[in-house]
Amino acid sequence: MNVHEYQAKELLAKFGVGIPAGIAALTVEEAVAAAKQLPGPLYVVKAQIHAGGRGKGKFKELPADAKGGVRLAKSIEEVEAFAKEMLGNTLVTVQTGEAGKQVNRLYITDGVDIAKEYYLSMVVDRASSRVAMIVSTEGGMDIEEVAHSTPEKIATITIDPAEGFMPHHGRAVGYALKLTGDLNKQAGKIAEQLYNAFVALDCDMLEINPLVETKDGNLLVLDTKMSFDSNSLYRHPDVMALRDETEEDPAEIEASKYDLAYIKLDGNIGCMVNGAGLAMATMDIIKLNGEFPANFLDVGGGATTEKVTAAFKIILKDPAVKGILVNIFGGIMKCDIIADGIVAAAKEVNLQVPLVVRLEGTNVQQGKDILANSGLPIVPANDLGDAAKKIVAEVRKVA
Ligand code: GDP
Ligand code: MG
Repeated sequence: MNVHEYQAKELLAKFGVGIPAGIAALTVEEAVAAAKQLPGPLYVVKAQIHAGGRGKGKFKELPADAKGGVRLAKSIEEVEAFAKEMLGNTLVTVQTGEAGKQVNRLYITDGVDIAKEYYLSMVVDRASSRVAMIVSTEGGMDIEEVAHSTPEKIATITIDPAEGFMPHHGRAVGYALKLTGDLNKQAGKIAEQLYNAFVALDCDMLEINPLVETKDGNLLVLDTKMSFDSNSLYRHPDVMALRDETEEDPAEIEASKYDLAYIKLDGNIGCMVNGAGLAMATMDIIKLNGEFPANFLDVGGGATTEKVTAAFKIILKDPAVKGILVNIFGGIMKCDIIADGIVAAAKEVNLQVPLVVRLEGTNVQQGKDILANSGLPIVPANDLGDAAKKIVAEVRKVA
């Protein structure tokens, strides 16, 4: 789960991390009121969307040469003008895809006098079972380019969670950022505070870009992206409360209600599969046969009629879907029960697109018989390769 920048900063502030003063705003009036509470004379108006690259982003509704979703305002009047330009408009950044994201919230912050921009992020490194802290002297809006053309400017410090954050980790961060004296000490301290927040909040990613050195010699978190391990949310109701469903795909929200793992993709073949591995293999083989999957969908081990029906409905809401491939391995669930579920669900949703079903596992013959005798135009398949060929042929007939 992701949260907005202002929410992430409020969480970090509880761990002692220095952030510029700021207030979130949902309307132009609130943005002006927020600015009036800040010291000025420099303010920053920041679009709050669950995507980075806002500074270099473009608003669909504004002229091509207009500035992006992070703007420095030199007066309350400018705050008002920028808020009007951003709210309700669609911001397209390198991370939003072409469709962009509508800006419904702003964050008005105290403008900082920046001496230098650094980069610091943390992820869970599964290979080493540690937290990897990634730091660079080259923070700011071009970090992807730095990683690409001068990777030697990026240092990684790994922290064993059993040992925790030690003073030597802090020194390594200060050294990698080429800081000396008080700033070096501050770097060690802020790295420790960020590590503590990362672990305590069960983050799976925390990115500070930029971490800035101010002209008066302080290190501050100027921008942050934070995401949480969904499996841990049950023990963080305060984090859960920050969820902004308007930022999420409606189909993915619907799927999560039925405990279905669904990710929308760009192709035209809807996939309903049990098990993440089988779902990946199914997507691969569709591609191998020249078409693209419209989604990843794992209905899980206990594929009940209710779940299968919900899954059909979610897949069919996507207008790009021209056919559905069901690929289910009946292990815990028996094939005849799954076949009953597919038939009931197909009837309930009045399925109009071709449906290819490949079943394997316990009671497979009974399952196949149920599909064959259902009166529905279900195309049976014998194995994964056969299933992929058949669904590709079916959608090409439709097209
Ligand atoms: P992003 O483009 O989504 O990563 O948004 P950021 O919050 O990182 O802002 C983009 C850039 O705007 C930063 O890298 C800074 O260069 C600049 N910026 C943001 N806040 C301030 C500020 O308070 N003062 C100054 N001078 N620049 C800022
Ligand atoms: Mg940034």
